Order: sequence, then structure tokens, then C-alpha cells
Amino acid sequence: MVTAIKTTCAYCGVGCGILATPTGDRGVTIAGDPDHPANAGRLCSKGTHLGDTVGLEGRLLHPEIAGRRTSWDRAIAHVARRFADTIARYGPDSVAFYVSGQLLTEDYYVANKLMKGFIGSANIDTNSRLCMSSAVAGHLRAFGEDVVPASYDDLDDADLIVLVGANSAWCHPIVHQRIQAARAARGSRLVVIDPRRTETCEGADLHLPLRPGADVALMNGLLAYCRAEGICDEQYIAQHLNVPEGFWDIIDACDLWSTARTCDVPPADLRRFYELFARTPRTVTMFSQGINQSLRGTDQVNAILNVHLATGRIGKPGAAPFSITGQPNAMGGREVGGLASTLAAHMDFAPDTIARVQRFWSAPRIAEKPGLKAVDLFRRIGEGKVKALWVMATNPAVSMPDAGRVREALAACPFVVVSDCIADTDTSAFAHVKLPAAGWGEKDGTVTNSERVISRQRPIFAMPGEARADWWIVTQVARAMGWRNAFAFERPADVWREHARLSTYQNGGTRLFDLRAQVALSNADYDAMAPFRWGGRPFADGLYSTPDGRARLLPVAQAPLQPVLADWPMTLNTGRYRDQWHTMTRTGLSSRLSVHRQEPLVELHPEDALALGLAEGALARIATPQGASVYRVHIEPGQRCGEAFAPIHWTDRQSTGGRTGLLSRPLVDPHSGQPGFKATPARVEAV
Ligand code: SF4
Repeated sequence: MVTAIKTTCAYCGVGCGILATPTGDRGVTIAGDPDHPANAGRLCSKGTHLGDTVGLEGRLLHPEIAGRRTSWDRAIAHVARRFADTIARYGPDSVAFYVSGQLLTEDYYVANKLMKGFIGSANIDTNSRLCMSSAVAGHLRAFGEDVVPASYDDLDDADLIVLVGANSAWCHPIVHQRIQAARAARGSRLVVIDPRRTETCEGADLHLPLRPGADVALMNGLLAYCRAEGICDEQYIAQHLNVPEGFWDIIDACDLWSTARTCDVPPADLRRFYELFARTPRTVTMFSQGINQSLRGTDQVNAILNVHLATGRIGKPGAAPFSITGQPNAMGGREVGGLASTLAAHMDFAPDTIARVQRFWSAPRIAEKPGLKAVDLFRRIGEGKVKALWVMATNPAVSMPDAGRVREALAACPFVVVSDCIADTDTSAFAHVKLPAAGWGEKDGTVTNSERVISRQRPIFAMPGEARADWWIVTQVARAMGWRNAFAFERPADVWREHARLSTYQNGGTRLFDLRAQVALSNADYDAMAPFRWGGRPFADGLYSTPDGRARLLPVAQAPLQPVLADWPMTLNTGRYRDQWHTMTRTGLSSRLSVHRQEPLVELHPEDALALGLAEGALARIATPQGASVYRVHIEPGQRCGEAFAPIHWTDRQSTGGRTGLLSRPLVDPHSGQPGFKATPARVEAV
């Protein structure tokens, strides 16, 4: 009898455990792992149909230079030489890696070590920049460390769950099922704050369809209400928080009526929410891309954290702010420090930290300042300042904002390497070298989900053709560049142990991210690793990761809302469909996943559709200052008037229309560098 292999889902940040049973000839049956803490046996449609997506159709199976098959030896030597030549001629900041939340933690660790410790630049950024970097920046500002202080168990224990900018029914379905189960079991209440009336709102106690970008006003108004009602925890504030001068002046200036006007929601509904929150100590506020993908994303995150900190609703069962991530291993990337703005293992670029990490790695040339964040990185490539780029497991030619300009940058870049499991992507069309990477079902390593649970992804199949693990590919290039000893990894467990050791290199023991129990793990124990959560219940003792141990309340005020412009009278919001993932390189292989939505639709409020002369099923062009693309119209009363919604998934390879990446502006949050995908000025017109 074939034994089921315990692994983790390829898709979202819920991080569901999977039992995969090979059935021969790359067949596999998929079931939910009843023992995994994230899903207890449940799977959503994407996870359930993973078996449809593991065939070899479209796979990149051999290394290629200039479109011709070559050997691994030649490909690695070529990549190493071109990177070394570029660095020698133009300096370390003339090269960059653009990586992905699809990478395993071991892949991420090796790439980060090579760029920051050996090449000597921090020009390694990730598509997680587009996903949750505002949450990272908000956590750092408030807690002194990027820690999500919640777990899915808190959803079971909460009496009130507030979802802000999160369509969990579609984007985190197993978490949504858990919320529904908790509601059925204990009558917990659900409030959804989202400009759109999504499926998540069905059965909710309250939906607040706020004006896009008004989240700071809403949360500051909530805190003002709590303070006026005596709900703030004065003892907790005095003992555990730093309150900057002027903080309460900002809050006290927020009254319910003006907040309702700013948010464009009925005052009675706003009061209902505030009253519910005030009388419910066990509250979890879960937030996602509607908060993060904003030009004020970090302030919006801190406005949420402020409310939980000031009411003492943190570090307790059923009471926490909860940032839920998009990708399967965005959290693992954060843990290794694989963002241009962090150095390594939850450490930043402070002088003593740089010295400590340099010692640990015996690094010849360590990065001493943050590198280029994603949007700036592609801009600098376009300006000719970054001359060699390695893209790993992601498709920026589709997914970056202003994707048309990103393509021009890739076309102009003198040397582009793409390592991917897919042969032809919109990005690999620009590659000078293509390196075949292992895909889900072949990879071997770890991922971390939204609740800090680390799980193994285990191989189900042998790697096909000449595909190799990402950590192996990076290791070979590092060795070819002359750093053999520092990259002597032979297996993912070697990388894992070093990552665990580096996590213990901290100053004064204030950081929660610490994997010291993993340092001496044997290879067999690594193979058998059961899911575990790091960090326990963060901040239960009221001690934060700041130098003085206190969390900070951030004085964030509502920024002026985007005016309606004569040429661009509508606002374009973007997001996921339930059954598709990213640019559909995997989910597009499953016909069963195409049934839910077969093409990209622009969703319009009935009044807008009427005014524009657009009927259900008609074709419409969405135009923005960045570009234009055509969609089929879906009339949706759950849209706010004046706002359109379009999905992010479609690419040139699948469709001539629905190219949403071409439409978004390359504008970013000033603290996190995360692009604001959710509110692009737009025009919709009949085709
Ligand atoms: Fe996979 Fe996310 Fe669905 Fe779980 S909820 S099965 S992790 S896509």
C-alpha cells in the first residue's frame, strides 16, 4: 500500500496541510491533513484540485542560454561569470534578485545570504512586497519586530471577528470556514469592512462599505469612541505602551458624524460597529490586501494596531490584530529577512547587527543599507542602473504595477536570468538564461503560514528532466562565484540548521523569532518535522521587542481622500478570484478551476453600467493613466457606485484582454514601498 505523504498546499497563506498519495505516472490523490493545525482536514477548491496541476505540460525541463538547451555546468558558469563581471565593473548595487513568496524558506535563505553577505548589496526584493510589506512596516513601528500576534485558534475563541479589506470567503477559504464554524458553535459576531459587498459579507452581522482609503478615519474614530466610553485599558497603556505627544489630540478630534461622512457609511451602522467592538473584549481584527495594498497601507495597519493596543486586546485568547498573508511562504521570506528593507532573520541594518551577521556568515562584503524595493528596482533597471537581474519563481511582467513599463525595463536589461518551473511565462520571454526549477510536489523544505506555523513541503515525485531545487541552483552559482565553503549545503536540512542558528544571533534577547530548538536537528528529524508555531502567544506578558520593551502607539491621521478627476471619474479596485492563483501558471491547468470564472470580468454597479450604456456581458475598456485593457461586463449591485473591480490573473498568454497589471500606477506607500493596487483613477467605456 502506498503511504500518503504529508505536505503543505502550494497556494495561499492559510498553509493547509495535505495528504498526497502518489498513484503512479505523476498521478496523485489529494486530501486534507486532519492533523494539521491550519485546516484539520479541510481543503478549498484550489487545494483539492492540486492533482490536476502536477503534469509536465509546459514545464521547463532543461537549462537554456539564449533559447538553446545547455548543460547545468555551462548555465551556472555563465550566470556566475555575468554577475561577477557586472559587479566588478559597476559595483554590487548594479545587480539584483527578484524572488517570491512561492520559494521555500531554504531557497529564500540561500538567495538572501548570497546577495546580502557575499555580493554585498541588499538588492533582493520579493513579490511579497506587493502583498504584505505594509503589515511588516506596521508591526515594526508598533512592536519593534515583524510579529503577527495571533493564531487561527484565536478565531475559535473570539466573540467578535472584524474583517477589514479581506474577502476571506474567496482568498482564505479555510480560514473563512473556520470563522463560520466558530460563529455556529459560539455565536461569535462578524463585521466586514470592505468597499465591495463580497461573498464574505453573506451572513455577516454588519457590512460597512466604506469609501476606499478611509480606513484610518474609521479606526481612529473607533479608538475615539472606545476612549469616550472608558474602554481603553489605562493600566495597560501606562505599563506597556509609549504614547507620543499629540497622539490623543488626533484621536479625540474624531467624532462619529464626521467619521461616517469621511467613510461614506451610515452613521447608525458605524455606531453599531463601534458599540459592538466596545462591548466585546474578545475581538480579532483580521486584515489583508484591502489594507496593505494602499498608498497609506502602513498607517492603516498602525491605526488597527493602535485600537488593539490601547484597549489591551492583544496577547490574550481571542483578542488580537491579525494580518493574514497572501502567499504560501510570504512569512518564511520575512523570517529569513528576504526583503530589501531587512538584513536577515528579523534583523535590520543597525551597525551592530550588520557586524553580527557579517561574523556569522564570515561575509566578505556585507550590505550596509537597505536595497531597492520592487517598484524602485524595476525603475532602476529601466534607467540602466541595474544591469543584471535574477527572477526566481515569479512573473513581474504581469504582476507588477505599470507592467508595461516593467516589460520595457526587462527588455532593456543587459542580463536577465529566470529560474522557474514553467517554460514560457511573460517574464521568461525576456530571459537570457532560463533555469529549470522544481515545482510543488517536487520541492523539499519548509514554509510558514499566516499564524507562524512552520510546515514541511515534501516531495511526492522525482524532479522531472533536469529540474533542480531553487536552493541548489543558487548554491551552485554562489560556489561558481568563488564562495564554496559558505555555500557547502548538500541538502535542505543543512540550510535549515544554519537559518535556525542565525535566528539565535540577536541582541539582548528581545526578538521573538528564535529557532534555537531547531539548531541541532538531525536530517531524519528534519524529514519527520511536524508543524510547529514559533513565538508562543506573542506579547502575552506585555513585553514587546522594542529597546524599552514597550509597544508604540503611532499618531496616524487620515490623509486627504483621492479626489474624483474629470478624465478619470471612476476608481479601479483589483483582486483575486476564488479559484485562480496569481498569473494562473498552475491553476490555469485545471479545467475544474476554470468553471467558477472563465474570463476576466469588470464588475460595475448597476447605476454606473446604465450611465455608461453597458449591459451584462458587453465588452468594456478600462483605461487608466498607465494603460488600457478590455473586459466583459458583470453588473454587480455589491459594487459601490463609481468603483470598478477587475481580477489580477490574466496574462498575454491566456487572453488579449483582462490585463489588469497594465493599469495600476507604480505609486507606493512611503513606509513600506508597497504599491497601491486598490484605488487607481480610471475611466470605463464601451468598446
Ligand atoms: Fe490551499 Fe489556501 Fe485553499 Fe488552504 S485555503 S487549501 S492553503 S489555497
